[in-house]
Amino acid sequence: MNIIMFGPPAAGKGTQAKLLTAQRGLIQLSTGDMLRAARTSGSDLGKKVAGIMDRGDLVSDEIVIALIEEQLDLNKDASGFIFDGFPRTVEQAKALDKSLQARDQEVNGVVRLCVDDNVLLGRVEKRFKEEGRKDDNAESFKIRLGNYHEQTAPLLPYYAAQGKLTEVDGLAEIDTVASAIAQVLDMQKTDVESSTKPWWKRIFGG
Ligand code: AMP
Repeated sequence: MNIIMFGPPAAGKGTQAKLLTAQRGLIQLSTGDMLRAARTSGSDLGKKVAGIMDRGDLVSDEIVIALIEEQLDLNKDASGFIFDGFPRTVEQAKALDKSLQARDQEVNGVVRLCVDDNVLLGRVEKRFKEEGRKDDNAESFKIRLGNYHEQTAPLLPYYAAQGKLTEVDGLAEIDTVASAIAQVLDMQKTDVESSTKPWWKRIFGG
């Protein structure tokens, strides 16, 4: 099962994705984590994206799509993925559909964590104190939130039109959000299972 954790910066996508990897054996693919790892390693890619990330801008579609493709190939036997922070543009969403299709898979569900904009800045400031992320400051956050509304939010109608979008209240406690997501995934699981069952089992049971 392939799930997208969707939401603005600091909505709790990473926290919830990590819980799901532990509970369901899905693999978390966070493009933000991959890019931060590239920076820590001092690779050319890391050097190329450092300034863009610190400013709060999006790195190119080409770079993040290549990172995701690489991970899909490295984890061919995975039972599914949780995409965290990807896709962030319509171009990325289309590329993801194509990549999964080529592997006889698809996006099964998109969980949108709904959090008011005015709560997010407080969360970013708190995370800066805990993790020291350079882009967790008021200036970069403004750009990240602007990019979310301009480039990422347009994906909502894209997935809603496919009947894949579910909204969860991201303001609730972590455990409450996790249970709400679990309910959504259990419903998706039943759908995925029944759509992959042969017709005679769907009709006669078994
Ligand atoms: P995140 O940890 O998801 O908040 O990502 C941190 C930063 O990495 C973002 O502000 C972007 O600069 C970059 N980034 C992560 N994922 C993507 C993506 N899918 N597309 C473009 N840039 C990304």
